[in-house]
Amino acid sequence: MIKIYNTLTGRKEEFKPIEPGKVKMYVCGPTVYNFIHIGNARPMIVFDTFRRYLEYKGYEVNYVSNFTDVDDKIIKRSLEEGISAQEVAEKYIVECKKDMEGMNVRPASTHPRATQEIGGMIDMISTLIEKDYAYDKDGTVYFRSRKFKPYGKLSHKNLDDLQSGMRDLLVTGAEEKEDNLDFVLWKPKKEGEPSWPSPWSDGRPGWHIECSVMAKRYLGDSIDIHAGGEDLIFPHHENEIAQSEAANGCVFANYWMHNAFLNIDNRKMSKSLGNFLLVRDIAKHYDLQVLRFFMLNAHYRSPLNFSQELMEAAKNALTRIITAVTRLSDLSAYISEHPAKGRENEAETLAQLGSLVTKFEDSMDDDCNTADALAAIFEMVKLANVEITEESTKEAVDTFLNTIVKLSDICGLIVKTQKETLDSDIEDLIAQRTQAKKDRDFAKADAIRAQLLDMGIVLEDTRQGTTWKRV
Ligand code: AMP
Ligand code: ZN
Repeated sequence: MIKIYNTLTGRKEEFKPIEPGKVKMYVCGPTVYNFIHIGNARPMIVFDTFRRYLEYKGYEVNYVSNFTDVDDKIIKRSLEEGISAQEVAEKYIVECKKDMEGMNVRPASTHPRATQEIGGMIDMISTLIEKDYAYDKDGTVYFRSRKFKPYGKLSHKNLDDLQSGMRDLLVTGAEEKEDNLDFVLWKPKKEGEPSWPSPWSDGRPGWHIECSVMAKRYLGDSIDIHAGGEDLIFPHHENEIAQSEAANGCVFANYWMHNAFLNIDNRKMSKSLGNFLLVRDIAKHYDLQVLRFFMLNAHYRSPLNFSQELMEAAKNALTRIITAVTRLSDLSAYISEHPAKGRENEAETLAQLGSLVTKFEDSMDDDCNTADALAAIFEMVKLANVEITEESTKEAVDTFLNTIVKLSDICGLIVKTQKETLDSDIEDLIAQRTQAKKDRDFAKADAIRAQLLDMGIVLEDTRQGTTWKRV
């Protein structure tokens, strides 16, 4: 049973999807005005891992993560760089995707962009105005927060505390609002800014409305999981809930997951403190797999401190897994040629491996505890290093090898080099083909031969058995 800590209720709850076997998940993505920093990488890595785990558990996951491509910071950047806001966004989306690939973060099912969803935003804002949840003041549209009774339910804030907190936050135009708590849905353009026509003014949407609209369009009115960094709880997610539930008349998201922040040298990471690290700064010194390991070695709801020492420790730990996997691969090839009858305690060793798989799953079931899940993989590595030898059966070696590779893959960690993956995959396929021929299932044998040919592998059947070469 998968449990998720739900920010909405402040409790760990059993995960029950709206539709059996399917998960609708939305993760707030970055504002694309710069290369992504390692703080932005944290939600990408942890929620990608949770997605992989849900898939491993048999769920079909529709995973949507947006790019915010219209925003003050992008406009500022476009003025600095002398290119259009759209060009700034395009450039950093391409760069962000490169960083994601480096971290082995799988692309979302859909990566919508705010500027391509303006029509949906105008529709939702119109609905909110019709329902009296929003009002137009000289071309700016505000959401009437107090009218949405549960406002504050996610951040567990009471409206009067919020009200007093807001007093210091008065910004230009805020005096136009009926109430300090109201927030912007649409704002008129300023000179030189990108804009779209709307019934209220030529202008652009507020930030919060984009996520409500993209979640609705790609996932539906009610979704299972909504995730992001904890800084988004208030006001961003609180406002998303207000807009979506007021407009759609149903619960917006059942589970809200928030990752804690990444700090550097125990201080908040910020540009002004000069302790700001981009993902690509890390890539100059480390394989980004190390960054991924480092992130997953902590629970996603615990603050995490970035330091050189922890990165070195992550690098060493990852190397240990890779070394063990390489040894198991070599051993598997060796044992194919030199079969052994198995060590005395082999059944017991395999049973221990089985309990470690259970430990891995229990940890992931428990609110995505990747730190404990990685610890289980480590125990498998230790066990393999001691108990799996040239005397082991091929079955035992391969079970360890495949289990460690598969569970690492759920964490998005690639612990097997490409060549090894190919060689052992080819050998597995050849073994299946040999078996098929023995079973006189020639159609299957031919299909496997064709599959291998597609992979650029040619087989030759000799008296001694089947050999293969790459073409
Ligand atoms: P932004 O581009 O600022 O909207 O951030 C994109 C995502 O990164 C959001 O989910 C943020 O909560 C998250 N995020 C930003 N900074 C950090 C940080 N230092 N640690 C963890 N998550 C962060
Ligand atoms: Zn969002």
